[in-house]
Amino acid sequence: MKHLSEYRDATLLKPLIAGIQTMSTQPWRIMEVCGGQTNTIVRYGLEQCLQPMISLLHGPGCPVCVTPPCYLDAAQSLASRSDVVLCTFGDMARVPGTDKSLLDIKAEGGDIRTMYSPLDAVTLARSEPEKQIVFFAIGFETTAPLVALSIVQAAHHGLRNFSVLCAHVLIPPAIEALLQFPEVKIDAILAPGHVCTVTGTREYEELHEMYGIPIVITGFEPADILQGVSEAVRCLESHESEVTIQYSRAVTAAGNIQAQRLIEQVFTVCDRDWRGIGSIPASGLEIVPAYQGFDAVDRFALELQPSPQTHDCCGRVLRGSLSPQECPHFGTTCTPQSPIGAPMVSSEGACAAYIQHARHDQISRSFQGR
Ligand code: SF4
Repeated sequence: MKHLSEYRDATLLKPLIAGIQTMSTQPWRIMEVCGGQTNTIVRYGLEQCLQPMISLLHGPGCPVCVTPPCYLDAAQSLASRSDVVLCTFGDMARVPGTDKSLLDIKAEGGDIRTMYSPLDAVTLARSEPEKQIVFFAIGFETTAPLVALSIVQAAHHGLRNFSVLCAHVLIPPAIEALLQFPEVKIDAILAPGHVCTVTGTREYEELHEMYGIPIVITGFEPADILQGVSEAVRCLESHESEVTIQYSRAVTAAGNIQAQRLIEQVFTVCDRDWRGIGSIPASGLEIVPAYQGFDAVDRFALELQPSPQTHDCCGRVLRGSLSPQECPHFGTTCTPQSPIGAPMVSSEGACAAYIQHARHDQISRSFQGR
């Protein structure tokens, strides 16, 4: 594995772009699987800077976007109960389930509170013992340790009114699923730097051994992403393939051992349904039997039926086979104020990023000195 010294200076963007353009002798398709990277790419117009030789594909890197409707429906049924306070991250409130969003349930009187941390939900459970406090946990390996810690804390305090509706998903199995999809040809991967701060690089080494494509573990600033693309193109052009850490200011091969132990203590790996992709083996986390009392599925006897994959356009955007602007609903019947699909809700969703950063052409021209 290789570590790169990093560029963070914006004045180096033009030389990075020029270097990528010079190196590229044929078109390459490079996918990022991180909503933060997608937002940076769209915000700074990096796609336009690198075309026509480099296509940047946006993968399922937005946790809000990939949470399947069955979990939204379960969260809504919990929030409709008079004895439940449903706590979740802000963006989840607007994501459509099968028929409604949590915001609709709130308008109908449901007690839904947005929080930055699951630990705040534990505090709430201690202060409101007459209520059942359910934390709707979504996200990748980055948020899972804090949710695990909230369960450990709730167990420590002997709380009987705190539980977690756990919809956590894991990135490497999703990358593997996409590499097996015939509809999307991917030449190289920009792996999510923030996820790898927790997990380390082992699973990406395994993916690389199986599929033989370059994987660059990359940060989120424009220079990070351009350097990640540059390394991917260098590998592709020289027929070399390896795992490289671009985001070495935060990622180590071993990752955060303490966070990994917390995840292992509280969760076990399970198959999981992804919105827009379908069921992916070993791609989710569920609560282990030792902490079953804190599992909202168990406490409230919830049935999570596999969700119908509605709106194929949203699925194709999440799989990187359709650009948001190619969707007939984009900016017309689907807007941030009235989203049809999850990728239009969160700022990490590709469709929302494209709408939000409509100035990207202008910015990309300034990078290129036009
Ligand atoms: S514009 Fe709306 S309907 Fe189209 S893919 Fe994006 S979220 Fe889905």
